[in-house]
Amino acid sequence: MTMIRYDHFYAGGSIIPVKGPGRHTVVDPAKEVACADVWLCGHGEVDLAIKHARRGFDAWRHSSLGERGAALQRLKAALEQRSGEISQLLATEMGCPVWLAGLMQMPMPLKGIDCAIEGLSQIAWEERIGNGLVERVPSGVVAAITPWNFPVHQIVAKVAAAVAAGCSVVLKPSEAAPGAAWAFMQAVHDAGLPAGVVNLVWGDAEAGAYLVTHAGVDRISFTGSTAVGQRIMASAATSLTPVTLELGGKSVAVLLDDADLAAAIPVIVRMGLANSGQACVSQSRLLVPRHLRDEVIARFRQAAAGWVLGDPLDPATRLGPVATAAQYARVNRMIARATEQGASCVVGGPAPLARGYFVTPTLFANVQPEMEIARQEVFGPVVALMTYDNEHEAADLANASGYGLSGAVWAADPVRALSFARRMKTGQVVINGAAQNLATPFGGWGLSGFGRENGRFGIEDLLAFRSLHGAG
Ligand code: NAD
Repeated sequence: MTMIRYDHFYAGGSIIPVKGPGRHTVVDPAKEVACADVWLCGHGEVDLAIKHARRGFDAWRHSSLGERGAALQRLKAALEQRSGEISQLLATEMGCPVWLAGLMQMPMPLKGIDCAIEGLSQIAWEERIGNGLVERVPSGVVAAITPWNFPVHQIVAKVAAAVAAGCSVVLKPSEAAPGAAWAFMQAVHDAGLPAGVVNLVWGDAEAGAYLVTHAGVDRISFTGSTAVGQRIMASAATSLTPVTLELGGKSVAVLLDDADLAAAIPVIVRMGLANSGQACVSQSRLLVPRHLRDEVIARFRQAAAGWVLGDPLDPATRLGPVATAAQYARVNRMIARATEQGASCVVGGPAPLARGYFVTPTLFANVQPEMEIARQEVFGPVVALMTYDNEHEAADLANASGYGLSGAVWAADPVRALSFARRMKTGQVVINGAAQNLATPFGGWGLSGFGRENGRFGIEDLLAFRSLHGAG
């Protein structure tokens, strides 16, 4: 296999060779063969990117809303042209099936750019209150740190919002899925965004930690694990740099007793398994009325059988491997511990293929709320089923994980469904399998973080207020 070299970073509108000595090797998770090397930036290279971002901000903060909208339109067109290339890279570098890339990995960011453009005209950029003029101004240079699981979507959620807000960005994407990030950067370049507005450095935890504590950064926007989010928030306390934290989840799907199981279960299976369960909004817990338990398990088993494991490059494959060896080890450890703690594996089993980090779709029953499998994010195709006897108990169980990113409720009676949704402590609830609306605010409660992304809410997140008293 030809190794791809990601050995340049992007600063001030130029593609610059990385001199730093560090390397990160990406392994194709379906073949367990090295497929790419990422040259990690040193401190001097991060300093340079921030210097260019400061210059970029000084100019871009004065741009008109029309200029920002036009820049985003050009970015969308350039990114769309790279959709096919990105889908192939996601399959090779993180095991995402090309089917899912075509369905979600690329359509979501393209729609996300549209929502940012629409958001420009929905914001009250200036408001008069008595003798005061309240302005919403760009907050400055944004350090944007993103994970690997929906890499383009997560990058766009930050970068499109920053461009719309009049900010500049230093993006540090995940070293685990570099191809999508570099293709995005090339789209930025092709779109002719002004120099210094969007910059990219490569790095792991070390470069990320350096970036978020840099004096040249005004705002931090992080998407990733709760543990790293906590570290970033602690380090930002010294400078009081504002942070947005989009963190992990342990989202739940709740079936009320009148739910249409034939409609619900295939969607619940998709929300638990898609991208091999590596989605922050994965519905990795399932709450079921006790008397429906066996029927739900049977339907789950039947629906999961359609999730064929295989080569992510094959359009027939529904489920690829998990993305990395570390992720594979973690998922297998959590499966073993769930069994040790008394949960019953009712769907799934041992490693299905001889090669690759493949995990069979897995459902645990007899799960108790205090078990690890009910409380910790797995980030694999593993769902924990719990039963309840009444709606109060269902609400208590739904809200027991400490996370609060997403969730779902299913009920034939829409009033009942809405009423239950309002009892859920979480940033979003999907009612009866509705489509996700990318113009609404996205973000968590509790251990899932705070701050909001998408549409006008993502732009507002990167704005600061300025009140001018007595402005004529
Ligand atoms: P991660 O926290 O390990 O890494 C995320 C990013 O942070 C990477 O770019 C990494 O290099 C960087 N990083 C690591 N340590 C750092 C440090 N000390 N300082 C600064 N940067 C550092 O997460 P991951 O494994 O890449 O992604 C999976 C996690 O992300 C899951 O927990 C998932 O739920 C979460 N996630 C959340 C959302 C959301 O919107 N809430 C979306 C996708 C993924």
